[in-house]
Amino acid sequence: MKMEQVSANCFAVLNEKNLVCDANSGLINLGGGVVIDTQSDLPHGRQMIKLFGKVWPGMPKRVVNTHEDADHVWGNQLFDGAEIIAHRKVAERMPHVADPKETQGLLKAASNFLPRQLLKVLHPGALAIARQLLQDYNFDGIKVVLPTTVFDERHVLDLDGTEVHLIFVGPCHQAGDTIVHVPKEGVVFAGDVLFRECTPMGWTGSYAKWIKILDLIVALDPKVIVPGHGPVCGIEGALEMKAYLAYLRDESKRCFEQGLTSVEASKRIDLGPYGAWRAPARLYLNVERAYREFRHEPEDKPWDAAKSFDLIYKVAKSRGLALEF
Ligand SMILES: [Zn+2]
Repeated sequence: MKMEQVSANCFAVLNEKNLVCDANSGLINLGGGVVIDTQSDLPHGRQMIKLFGKVWPGMPKRVVNTHEDADHVWGNQLFDGAEIIAHRKVAERMPHVADPKETQGLLKAASNFLPRQLLKVLHPGALAIARQLLQDYNFDGIKVVLPTTVFDERHVLDLDGTEVHLIFVGPCHQAGDTIVHVPKEGVVFAGDVLFRECTPMGWTGSYAKWIKILDLIVALDPKVIVPGHGPVCGIEGALEMKAYLAYLRDESKRCFEQGLTSVEASKRIDLGPYGAWRAPARLYLNVERAYREFRHEPEDKPWDAAKSFDLIYKVAKSRGLALEF
């Protein structure tokens, strides 16, 4: 984990491994401080606080959650007394979407001989992701701490005369997606609307909306974008991600029309330049998401996580891709 200064008063903490759960956090070091996203577990949350602590005068008054996923909210409890701001949907969905019990149970099963043998047979992908997570993460002691302030479309903060705009852009990757724009400093904290140098994962929303929101980020003309995952970039990061989504949707459509299943399509679609991104087999999620649209299924149709990880595993094995999530 490292800290990067991205403008006069904005900072980012980045998890360089860039696999699942390796989410970034941001800091706007004005007006008592605003932290954007709080990491995936308490050790990472504490490490982030230590890094930002090198530049801030004291624990921040405010926290923003860019959406409801666990890897962005499981450090909330470390900011005792802070105002936690998020879109209304984040507060509604966080207790279910970011319930730590399932992940804690999976890691426990993967750490014990008999349940591990069972997982190996029934859910090899879930076992593989558990093994990956056990290398870096410890989900003990996590309590879900909900936002204390919710908003609907836009929420503006005035930090010592610097405006910060929280703009609701969901659902494109998740229901509560919010980007944080600091116009005076030319910075956008994009949350998981932007993945950089790793295969994106989207859970709720549509391709059309996601592409539209990437256009919106470009239109804000930021000098710097801090993605939810991956290294800091400029607008080229948003443009590249937009090209990926358009490419994946078109390729998926071609396969759908040929009558291939989403798994078969995921085994065949040429990854082109995106094959160099981390966790390339996560493309299965994007293909399946496109298929859901082609089948006119609801945007918020739930995912079976264990099954999805098993299919990513299957695609990785069959293509000889890196077995990473
Ligand atoms: Zn994330």
